[in-house]
Amino acid sequence: LSHEARDDLKVKLAELDAEIASVKSQLEPLQQLHAHLISERHTLENQLQKLSTTHRSQIKSSARASTTSGIDYQGCSFPWSPAIATTLRQVFKLSGFRLCQEGVINAAMDDRNIVCVMPTGGGKSLTYQLPAMMGRGVTVVISPLLALIWDQVRSLKDLGVECAMMTGATTKAEQNQIYEKIEGGSSKGGRELRLCYVTPEKVAKSKRFMSALEKANAMGRLPERHVDEAHCCSQLGHDFRPDYKKLSVLKTLFPRVPIQAVTATLSTKTLPDLLKILQLPPVCDGNKANSTGTVFFSAPLHRANLHYKVLPKPSSAKAAIERIGNWIQRKHPGDSGIIYCLSKKDTETVADELREWSRGQIKTGVYHAGVDDAAKEGIHLDWRKGRINCICATIAFGLGIDKGDVRYVIHHSMSKSLDGYYQETGRAGRDGKDSDCVLFYRGQDASRLSSLIYGDVDGTAKLHEMLRFAQDLKTCRKVAFAKYFATSSSLSTSAWDHPSSISNSTSTSSVSPCGVCDNCSRPTSSIFTRNVTLETWQIIKVLDEVTAQGGRVTLSNLADLVRGLGGGSFGIMIQGKKGKRRMGGEKEKLDLNEVAGGKVGLSKEASSSLLIHLTLLGYLQDSYHATAYTVNVYISLGPNSIRLSRFSHETVQTSGPTIEYTF
Ligand code: ADP
Ligand code: MG
Repeated sequence: LSHEARDDLKVKLAELDAEIASVKSQLEPLQQLHAHLISERHTLENQLQKLSTTHRSQIKSSARASTTSGIDYQGCSFPWSPAIATTLRQVFKLSGFRLCQEGVINAAMDDRNIVCVMPTGGGKSLTYQLPAMMGRGVTVVISPLLALIWDQVRSLKDLGVECAMMTGATTKAEQNQIYEKIEGGSSKGGRELRLCYVTPEKVAKSKRFMSALEKANAMGRLPERHVDEAHCCSQLGHDFRPDYKKLSVLKTLFPRVPIQAVTATLSTKTLPDLLKILQLPPVCDGNKANSTGTVFFSAPLHRANLHYKVLPKPSSAKAAIERIGNWIQRKHPGDSGIIYCLSKKDTETVADELREWSRGQIKTGVYHAGVDDAAKEGIHLDWRKGRINCICATIAFGLGIDKGDVRYVIHHSMSKSLDGYYQETGRAGRDGKDSDCVLFYRGQDASRLSSLIYGDVDGTAKLHEMLRFAQDLKTCRKVAFAKYFATSSSLSTSAWDHPSSISNSTSTSSVSPCGVCDNCSRPTSSIFTRNVTLETWQIIKVLDEVTAQGGRVTLSNLADLVRGLGGGSFGIMIQGKKGKRRMGGEKEKLDLNEVAGGKVGLSKEASSSLLIHLTLLGYLQDSYHATAYTVNVYISLGPNSIRLSRFSHETVQTSGPTIEYTF
């Protein structure tokens, strides 16, 4: 039997050997062909490389940029300059470029990968719409929101530009028509499709769409891919969209098709994410670009018509509404405005109370993610028609607002990050006229925000930047934004000033103050900087004692406690059911004289904001306690606290670090 089994196997082996030999004989010519194609590809690639280099150097010499090492896309004229000027006038009916538009368009015409940061309303769309009109083939625009896509497609059609959009709502028949146009161009009659707008989902999920692009690319009809609202790529951005992550497929499939990413918000932290996801090379400056990098443009992000201001917000909700109502009625009665609130419930309360307080003179509307689509449509319309003048909204109200005459953006509560704040306030004054951006701020709001950002990547760091901005009584708001957005040390903050003022100034790293914000116009006599080392020491000692006794305090509790309020008592944790610790009804007493040598002599507001200042300095920190229902935020000692607590009451003012605070 075993003999038979062995024979069987031998036969099978012989059969397989024969098959392998036959496959191999077929494989050899294919392998030769493969090697041949690869080497031919190399040759072509080298030729392309050479041509591109000479092309670039021709551009450089024609642009007379030889004095600097690099191409100045922003400041020079190029072989295509006359043609783009004509297209600007004839197709787009515009008389000139704004901000860094022309530089971006020049780089796009030069087939570069581009990252462009321009403020909301700055005119980012033109930077890819115009180049799309110049070459062959179709430019694909990836945009996160249907409303944004509709808007652009509508206005392009008004201009007579051949464009299409592909969304979840596009029918099969329409899709097939578009695919045909992408693949075949104008060869089958009709005009050439110039722009095709899609959502990131389409790129991530539709095989048919990607294969249409591959065909177009093979025919050299895919000049450029454009990613709008590119900050959605970053998980750190507040508008992160998971499908943006999948856009990495673009460079994998089409390594030589340039990508242009544009956004209004990009921070030092989000740029690397963006480059990584889109697989773009490191950035170089748009006015001295090397020949391989991603050309980076940041328009003067500062919009001189926006007047930034942080105003104190009273502790009581009712007084806060009065203060806001008074401000609106004094500065902008009847004007269009937005009030950003933290929660859906807040938008409703603020809208109701403002209406009541003003006896219907402030016509308010409510907008948040819970409002259904039809109602949202209605609110937009009422707002446009002036039946509503003040929209109380969460950040769900944002992308796609195209109302020029928003005269004020008020923050009833600060945003979770400075990126968010900048983006939200950017909705004011898109018509270029003077508008106000007012943050109503009180220190206690910080705790509520802390509980909201619990668990967010980098949430605390981002919130601290926001708090620093809100607490700052000295730095020009424009300078503060410029510093925050300076994308990397090699890209100077000077982008915040107008190009004309950059060339006049000798230093490239300084930003000129705006001259109109609260901090620029604040008389120096109205603020004073005080040495608060002793108060800080007292606060640390009190908190140390509370912690030692198993107590837990919120920022607001602590602000009272150090001032000798609340009978000097604080809540302590007790061992509850199943060994869980919770805040008990029990209170522990604190002897302020013994623990801290007396009360802290500051007002509630002043001590609250001092506590936040100390959190930003690392003397205090937030500590989170998540229950099944909420996240509680308590305040605890930070890593720096020991720098003061190791001294005694008598020696702390002469021995330790000095802490100052501006009131
Ligand atoms: P963004 O996408 O940067 O927020 P848009 O591209 O939507 O801004 O442009 C905002 C408005 O500015 C649009 O109404 C557009 O027509 C207008 N605009 C853009 N570029 C120019 C220009 N060079 N001159 C005049 N208006 C312009
Ligand atoms: Mg836009």
